[in-house]
Amino acid sequence: MKTYLDYNATAPLRDEARKAMLSTLSSPHNASSVHGFGREGRSIIESARETLASATGADTTQIIFNSGATEGNNTVLKHFDGQRILASSIEHAATLQAGPKLKEIPVTEEGVLDLNALEKLLKERPTALVSVMLINNETGIIQPIKEASDLAHKHGALFHCDGVQALGRIEIDINALGIDFLTLSSHKIGGPQGVGALAMRLCGQTPILITGGGQEKSARAGTENVAGIAGFAAATKAAINNLDSYQSQTKALQDTLENALQNVKIYGQNASRATNTTLFSVPGTTSERLLMALDLEGIAVSNGSACSSGRVEPSHVLKAMGENDKEASSALRISTGWDTTHEDIERFLNAFEKIMARIERKQNA
Ligand code: PLP
Repeated sequence: MKTYLDYNATAPLRDEARKAMLSTLSSPHNASSVHGFGREGRSIIESARETLASATGADTTQIIFNSGATEGNNTVLKHFDGQRILASSIEHAATLQAGPKLKEIPVTEEGVLDLNALEKLLKERPTALVSVMLINNETGIIQPIKEASDLAHKHGALFHCDGVQALGRIEIDINALGIDFLTLSSHKIGGPQGVGALAMRLCGQTPILITGGGQEKSARAGTENVAGIAGFAAATKAAINNLDSYQSQTKALQDTLENALQNVKIYGQNASRATNTTLFSVPGTTSERLLMALDLEGIAVSNGSACSSGRVEPSHVLKAMGENDKEASSALRISTGWDTTHEDIERFLNAFEKIMARIERKQNA
């Protein structure tokens, strides 16, 4: 029996998404073609655009489909290349390594954006773009987006937000939050991988990364991934329609988990936090050791930090929060989602207790 507790990395495909994809996957849907197949593909994409617009508060004309959030973040950040960009020090690598040189905005020890530091940086020099994520993928901490975007706009900067971990987990309204560019990804909410979207407000700028065709109103060239977009929209609809029950279900799991964890340091426990994420450090061992031991028990969790190379690196987020290398190298992240049950949490807790007892015995031997 396998237990999957790594939804912030990717989520299992929802049935709704699978069905939506299968119903279009075999058809020759090039949405730019004028024949019936093409028009059918176009209609699937336009209906998906409406779903994403209503999930984010964006106008339907301001949703651009792409290959995911890495592309979305690159599209926005590279558009401002050569101008001053401020980004929080806890952003995903898809923002921090998006190309242009960034000036990092520090976070507090609690893992929350330091708004005073942001204001100071904005006063220093004219800034073109401020980038702050809505929910941090490692800690689950919800960032003060409205306050940050107000500051950015007051100082003449536009505001980008990586909303990957927020879609389907909390409500998003880009107008209320003052977000000019919002990046989204399908696979964190049970849609397929390799598809995402950029949701924008009318701010006078349309960032374009990929040229070469007129698709997506020339904002993103390349034949649209019709099946992927259909799956993304179906997963979004399912997530948004069940938001209340998702939140209460994941909160109950989070409480069970956090009440049972002993002798660990849970990050952001008093901050405003996503109900599906618990990041904690475990004294006397390393993330790598724990991840491998849990994997042998059939339990998939993460150390939290973006791990595209397969290596376990100390978390840059925890280091930005002032933790030392040792603590940042001993973190575990449990992230739950639409299909997680209490039994999954119980299995994790039993395995974790067993592994910790073994580590302790070895240390005392
Ligand atoms: N931003 C955040 C906060 C993420 O968690 C991820 C995924 O790990 C990404 C961006 C990258 O998303 P994608 O896999 O769609 O490129």
